[in-house]
Amino acid sequence: MTVLPKTEFPYRLRLPGPTAIPEAVRMAGSRPIINHRGAEMRVMLGEVQQMLRPLFGTAQPVVLQSSSGTGAMEAALVNVLAPGEKVLACVNGQFSERFAKIAAAHGAGVDVLDIEWGKAPDPEAVRQRLAGGDYRAVLVVHNESSTGALADLRALGAVTAETPSLLMVDSVSGIGGAEMRQDDWGVDVIATGSQKALMCPPGLGLISVSAKARAVVERDDRCARFYWDLRKALPVVDQNETAFTGAVSLVQSLHTALSLMHEEGIENVYARHLRLSKAMRAGFVALGLEAFGDASAYSPTVVVGGLPESINGGDVVKHMLETYNTAIAGARNKLQGRVIRIGTMGAFSIGDVMTDLLYLGRSLQALGHSCDPDAAVAAVLSANR
Ligand code: PLP
Repeated sequence: MTVLPKTEFPYRLRLPGPTAIPEAVRMAGSRPIINHRGAEMRVMLGEVQQMLRPLFGTAQPVVLQSSSGTGAMEAALVNVLAPGEKVLACVNGQFSERFAKIAAAHGAGVDVLDIEWGKAPDPEAVRQRLAGGDYRAVLVVHNESSTGALADLRALGAVTAETPSLLMVDSVSGIGGAEMRQDDWGVDVIATGSQKALMCPPGLGLISVSAKARAVVERDDRCARFYWDLRKALPVVDQNETAFTGAVSLVQSLHTALSLMHEEGIENVYARHLRLSKAMRAGFVALGLEAFGDASAYSPTVVVGGLPESINGGDVVKHMLETYNTAIAGARNKLQGRVIRIGTMGAFSIGDVMTDLLYLGRSLQALGHSCDPDAAVAAVLSANR
């Protein structure tokens, strides 16, 4: 097979985050810095709120802070927890492990509901554990990017709503690509980041809090907090202000990204993620990979492929980058070497999926796996109907 030099291929960022961002979003972030407390910034913050709330499915304020997604998770936890209180952590992958570790770092008693990687938390199991303990919160990752499992937040919210416990959700790789109805589903706290389905550069953390959670946040006996104190950040959202200097350039980018999403139509955005993630999975299977995880919980924003034993995931990632200038992800956890992951979130199209599968198929062939990349591309077209 003739292989062109890597420089012939334009760079493609196809990770499950950060994701490639539209040119208009990039340009918006390079506009001049404006007064962070001036009229123009206030108008922009107000419009950002109006465009964000439908994505969270909430009428509550959405706080913007300068951090990655992990910072938003930590901020959420320090506002809800007091040292010594207990949380029930649903652990089904790398990021849910992280959520549990952050809670433990702040002195919480962490009970783990251990779930097979690839599966979603079972609401009935959560109900039983809540009946046996006094938990301040249940920690759940909406979309486990390490395994591609989507949690059923509607069902989990129905369980926690009957208890004093709060449902705290890491939706770093969910919001914007997977449906979220915070108010209807009874999700109490959502933490997310800008760099995934929201089609922005990394650097903004976003948090929303239900009325039930707000009553806890307002208490004086929570973990020590200053910069992350939501008692400062929440009240100023509706004045179109930020507690501290807002990340002006990122807010400019976010405003443009949200405008693009609303132009497409939020329901259309979700439908595109669902349709194209299914197409990507069909393509993986056509290439002879395993569509990793539990089919009833497949994520719309990341597709995970289980590899044959003869192929190492790290080699696939390396080959894709070195030969096709395309960045995909492997795993940095117990699945290392066994899976590859490709993002199906943000600004991406069927053309991206077809290109991914062609390059992936050819990379697998180069590593000794027998497959038919053209058939995989054809599978995309038929799955996409
Ligand atoms: N949670 C999930 C589900 C993620 O996918 C990620 C990032 O990949 C994080 C948390 C961590 O976010 P960040 O890297 O922005 O801190």
